[in-house]
Amino acid sequence: MRHKGILVVVSGFSGAGKGTLMKQLVRTYDTYALSVSMTTRAPRPGETDGKEYFFVSQEAFEEKIRGNGLIEYARYCDHYYGTPREYVEKQLQSGRDVILEIEIQGAQKIREQFPSALLLFVTPPSIRELRRRLSGRGTETEEVIAARLVRAQAEAEGIGQYDYLVINDDLDVCVKEMHMLIQGAHRATNRNKELIETIRTQLQELAKGE
Ligand code: ADP
Ligand code: 5GP
Repeated sequence: MRHKGILVVVSGFSGAGKGTLMKQLVRTYDTYALSVSMTTRAPRPGETDGKEYFFVSQEAFEEKIRGNGLIEYARYCDHYYGTPREYVEKQLQSGRDVILEIEIQGAQKIREQFPSALLLFVTPPSIRELRRRLSGRGTETEEVIAARLVRAQAEAEGIGQYDYLVINDDLDVCVKEMHMLIQGAHRATNRNKELIETIRTQLQELAKGE
């Protein structure tokens, strides 16, 4: 029997390694679809429109909100970020697990709309390592890094709403662990109501036939 895909939310402090992890996860396994968000922030060097994000103006973003084209959206460090609805719904229907790499307010909205979504929070092994990764990436000014570290404090308060904490120390180990958690989630009973219903019906029919 073909299952509907699971919605997987991945959040974590800026610089924790979410983007790197997600790229490797979808490269390694072919059952995952990575949702591409829309944002009003400027592309970083090396980022391409339609790949990391759909980079749009504030007007275009607000138009998308009005048209109900986003499942969720939030403001993060002075910019809008949101998840386009159409891609996610299509991929879930086709049976693929859809990964949303989004921040904590968005994660909350997803949990409200999709109670069976799996919520993962990624952390680096230490905050010293987080700082090192953020500076090492070399894509933000010191001022932007400072703002993101302040934001991390607020995010740390919300970790409790996530299903699992995933520590991104060794990248390969972490990718395997995430894959295992997602595969495990497929077997959670609250995500398999239809299958359970089918099993019960078949058992009833079997009992009647005897
Ligand atoms: P995020 O998407 O969470 O902001 P990135 O994926 O951009 O983070 O990673 C931040 C930096 O840390 C990048 O330079 C990346 O190469 C590096 N990085 C990611 N994961 C690891 C890891 N497991 N070990 C060492 N460096 C890592
Ligand atoms: P960055 O600018 O580093 O790419 O992303 C900043 C933050 O925005 C990250 O925490 C990232 O997970 C989050 N983010 C990216 N896309 C979305 C989205 O579609 N919705 C929400 N709510 N957050 C997002």
